[in-house]
Amino acid sequence: MTAQIINGKELSADLKQEMKAEVETLKQKGLTPHLTVILVGDNPASKSYVKGKEKAAAETGISSSLIELPDSTSENDLLQLIKELNEDTSVHGILVQLPLPEQISEQKVIETIHPDKDVDGFHPINIGKMMTGEDTFLPCTPYGIITMMKSKNIPLEGKHAVVIGRSNIVGKPVGQLLLNENATVTYCHSKTKNLKELAANADILIAAIGRAHALTGEYVKDGAVVIDVGINRQADGKLTGDVDFESAKEKASFITPVPRGVGPMTITMLLKNTIKAAKGLSAIE
Ligand code: NAD
Repeated sequence: MTAQIINGKELSADLKQEMKAEVETLKQKGLTPHLTVILVGDNPASKSYVKGKEKAAAETGISSSLIELPDSTSENDLLQLIKELNEDTSVHGILVQLPLPEQISEQKVIETIHPDKDVDGFHPINIGKMMTGEDTFLPCTPYGIITMMKSKNIPLEGKHAVVIGRSNIVGKPVGQLLLNENATVTYCHSKTKNLKELAANADILIAAIGRAHALTGEYVKDGAVVIDVGINRQADGKLTGDVDFESAKEKASFITPVPRGVGPMTITMLLKNTIKAAKGLSAIE
C-alpha cells in the first residue's frame, strides 16, 4: 500500500479562503479581528514563526500587530503589557511567542493572558475546558491535526491512537482531543519501554518527538494513519519530520509530510482562534 498524503499546505489554503470570506462579512458588520503578537528577544526561529503568522493573518484580512521587546525585558514589564492588552478592546487575540528568555516564567505569562484572548489555547482554564469537552480555544497544533484527519473523513471513534511525545503544547492535548473523539489513546514518551511494539499497534500514530526519522516503517502498522508533527533541521538546512517518510508511506493508509504537513495547519488554526475570539468578545456572529 502507498499512503495518501494529507497536504497541510493545500488544506490551509482552502481554510484560509473560507476564513477570508468570513472576515469580510465581519468587517461589513464593523468587526475586524485583531491579533497582537509579542516577540521577546531575537531567536531566529521565533522571528520566522512570527513572520509566518503575520503573513497568514494578512492573507485572510485579519489585522495584526507585532510588539518586539529586547531580550533583557523583565517578567514584570511583560506581564504589565499583557494586562494592558487584556483591557484593550481593539485586541481580540494575544500571542506571546515561546520560548521566552530565562528571567521570564512562561507559565506566568500564559496565565496572565485573559482566557478569552488566549488564541494559543494554553491557559489552564482553556485546557480544563478542552478536557471536559466544552467549547474553547483549542491549542493550534493539535486542532490542526484533528482538522487534517477530519478533512479526509478518517474515522477516529474506537480507533487505537498512539501519541509519541507528551509536551503540553502537542502530545498531551492531541491525545485529549482524540479521546474526545472517542479514540482509545496510548501516550508514549522518552521513558516508554516497548515503543516499537506500541507504535506498531496503532491505527493512528502521532509523532511529536523532535528527533529526525525516529520512526521508520517498522513502527507503522499496515493501513495506519501517520501524523508527523516533528520539525527537525538537517545538516543541509532542510526540514524533516520525526517519521522516515519513505519507509512509512509504504505501510500507512494516510501520512502527513514535512514540510507541507502539520506546520502550515498550526498557523491556520491560530487564525481560526483569532476569529473565534473576535466574535466571542464582540458578540457579533
Ligand atoms: P518537546 O521537546 O517538548 O517534547 C518531546 C517529547 O518527545 C517529550 O514528551 C519526550 O518524552 C518525547 N521523547 C523524546 N525522546 C523520545 C524517544 N526517544 N522516544 C519516545 N519519546 C521521546 O517537543 P514538542 O514541543 O512537543 O515538539 C515535538 C516536535 O514537534 C518538535 O520537533 C517540534 O519542533 C515539533 N513541533 C511542530 C509543530 C508544528 O506546527 N508542526 C508545533 C510544535 C512542535
